[in-house]
Amino acid sequence: MPKFHCPRCKQPTLSMKDKYLIGWWKTANCGGCGARITAYPILLMIYSFLYVWNIIWWVGMAQFNDSLHYLIYMAVIWLLLDFFNIQLIPLAAMKDKAKPSEEPKAD
Ligand SMILES: [Zn+2]
Repeated sequence: MPKFHCPRCKQPTLSMKDKYLIGWWKTANCGGCGARITAYPILLMIYSFLYVWNIIWWVGMAQFNDSLHYLIYMAVIWLLLDFFNIQLIPLAAMKDKAKPSEEPKAD
């Protein structure tokens, strides 16, 4: 199983399942540094649009052309989208809110 590198500590700590779920708006915790890992939301929004378009387009084609083989196209494109989701969506580490501020407080 290929491992994916944490964007903060650069260690290969993220599993394929973590990477896939991050592409579906989930977060994962790095096993090395504990950072919360996510993907850039604008890219995820574009990707979500592609998934929705894939369903609407091919179900519509199957409905209007009265042929179920369009659903096979939908499944193939869905698998391609999943593949590119895992391979291409870059990861980002979220800011750690629990960590106290590094800057000294001006009292
Ligand atoms: Zn890490």
